[in-house]
Amino acid sequence: MRYSYHRPASLDEASDMAAALPNARFIQGGTDLMVRIGQGRERPGHLISLRRIGELTTIDANREIRIGAGATLSDTLAHPDIRRRLPALAQSLAALGSRQVRNMGTIGGNLCNASPAADTAPPLLVYDARVEIRNGRAIRCLPLAEFLLGPGKTALQAGEILVAIVVPDPPEGTGSAFIRRGRVTMDLAIASVAASVRLNGGASIAIRVAAGAVAPTPRRLTAAEAVATPTDDWSRAAIAAREQIEPITDLRASAEYRRHLTGILVRRALTMAAAASGQWSIDR
Ligand SMILES: Cc1cc2nc3c(=O)[nH]c(=O)nc-3n(C[C@H](O)[C@H](O)[C@H](O)COP(=O)(O)OP(=O)(O)OC[C@H]3O[C@@H](n4cnc5c(N)ncnc54)[C@H](O)[C@@H]3O)c2cc1C
Repeated sequence: MRYSYHRPASLDEASDMAAALPNARFIQGGTDLMVRIGQGRERPGHLISLRRIGELTTIDANREIRIGAGATLSDTLAHPDIRRRLPALAQSLAALGSRQVRNMGTIGGNLCNASPAADTAPPLLVYDARVEIRNGRAIRCLPLAEFLLGPGKTALQAGEILVAIVVPDPPEGTGSAFIRRGRVTMDLAIASVAASVRLNGGASIAIRVAAGAVAPTPRRLTAAEAVATPTDDWSRAAIAAREQIEPITDLRASAEYRRHLTGILVRRALTMAAAASGQWSIDR
């Protein structure tokens, strides 16, 4: 496979290149794209590397947490504000691939690749993240839920660059957790679930649940959220989650097993998130 490799130093330069070059693809860590090229599933004429563009790699933690799309998975995981304020995201990063993959791969690449099993997506969905997209010299923003459209499909139009992921600071007293199961450690998830829980004593104030690998895109499980309550050990949420997903049978697991597993993961993630909120005891 022959392609030209370009290394723009700024977002303007990268946008101009993408507009001028036919059949070009952006590349960050290459841990998804180079595999697809090696398998002959992609045949770009040009690769435009975004790795020299410093502003894509910064993580700003102020009132909102803004993660540059080019931040590596390792750097995102190591950031103290991500660990403290977005623990479910940190847990998903720690579970993703190997140290080598995390050192090369980026959070933006994980979302742009649009795998139904992308590990960073469920926690970012429960945190209500939005994405910043550059179109030429203009910026547009979208909720993450509207960015992920299907397997390998995002809302990015030709030449658009994902610039950053912006996460509102979870309110005080929010607990969150991410949990996944794969066949072996270094494998995509069979199913994954993220949950965030804010309680007032035993009463729910805000509960969010999202799942990966059990539908065409990672998605919020709003039916489970609507009935979730700790007083029934989260069982109604687990039943609703099993009904809301659209799992497929593939080489990793059957649809039936994915449905069963999702119910279990929803209960566990909600239990862990509630315990992390400090408002609920697992032994209660
Ligand atoms: C051995 C192995 C294990 C893995 N395990 C897991 C796992 O457990 N969980 C998981 O979720 N993933 C896993 N992955 C997949 C991969 O590592 C991640 O999805 C990673 O985050 C991709 O980031 P990247 O920077 O390498 O993306 P790249 O390969 O550089 O790009 C991926 C796609 O996104 C596009 N793109 C990248 N950046 C931008 C941008 N800023 N704007 C517009 N388009 C862009 C590219 O054109 C390409 O289509 C694994 C991969 C390997 C090789």
